[in-house]
Amino acid sequence: MQRILTRGEIETLDRTSIVRLIPADANTFGLRAERLTQLAKDNPIQDYLELIATLAAAQQTVAGQNWTLPAPDDVQLAQAQAHGMPLFNATSERDPVWRDMLSALIAELQQHPLPGPVQQILAELANADAPALEQAADALLNQQDEHINAAQAPFIMAALQLYWTLRVQAVELKQVPAVTPFGVCPCCGSQPVSSSVQVGGPKEQIRYATCSLCASQWHIVRVVCTHCEDTKTVAYHSLNEDKAIKAESCDKCRHYRKIFYLDKDPNADAFADDLASLPLDILMGEARFYRANNNPYLWQPAGEP
Ligand SMILES: [Zn+2]
Ligand SMILES: [Zn+2]
Repeated sequence: MQRILTRGEIETLDRTSIVRLIPADANTFGLRAERLTQLAKDNPIQDYLELIATLAAAQQTVAGQNWTLPAPDDVQLAQAQAHGMPLFNATSERDPVWRDMLSALIAELQQHPLPGPVQQILAELANADAPALEQAADALLNQQDEHINAAQAPFIMAALQLYWTLRVQAVELKQVPAVTPFGVCPCCGSQPVSSSVQVGGPKEQIRYATCSLCASQWHIVRVVCTHCEDTKTVAYHSLNEDKAIKAESCDKCRHYRKIFYLDKDPNADAFADDLASLPLDILMGEARFYRANNNPYLWQPAGEP
């Protein structure tokens, strides 16, 4: 008698035809800025979304400047292949050039009429010394909440995103190992910010997680907890019957991440729509589920669901 395959097994068998990895768009920060501006209108956190739209637009401008990044290391890439590990370990390596990117971001932002408290944060960052910035970056990438300055965090993360997005874009897709550990980006080892069910061609109705750091998207089968890989206790929650955004929760680990359905809203952006849907986070907090990780543009102090 023939056994019926589960959805995951079918997708695994069909691996060759599934696009496993979608690299970050060359205009990824620009698209994010546009979407944030669109979502800001009448949003309860309109001012914040507009600030982050300005930050994302600055990221795109700085990305287009002429940066010299470390060349891909062939030995390291071969090791990643041999051991089935992500190409880079973003928590343990980075070139000091990321701090020059931060300076360029600050200079770009200072061209805009920003509120006094934001100008103050930018001035503090511009005057911070290298050890303090490296320590702040380590705390953010390792999610050491007690060492994180929540006001500075979005700007430091923006510079780290720039650095890692450009580094990953310099590597050929074929160098990414075919199998890497569950739940982290195959390119830089970071956690996803959210996931999206795609539309069009071979990606139709396939779910991809978006890296919170380098914006690469990788395939994760549907109806699986993106945090602990549980398949039995996954459930979906939405606000006001919203069909484009749901929170995918897991009773086993009590975490959730948002999932966007591009057939319902083709412009949904993994970062922007996550940030603009805080009422759904409040609903999930009330149901005693916890965000699997922060949105890189909004750092909440530890212990607040
Ligand atoms: Zn990544
Ligand atoms: Zn889970």
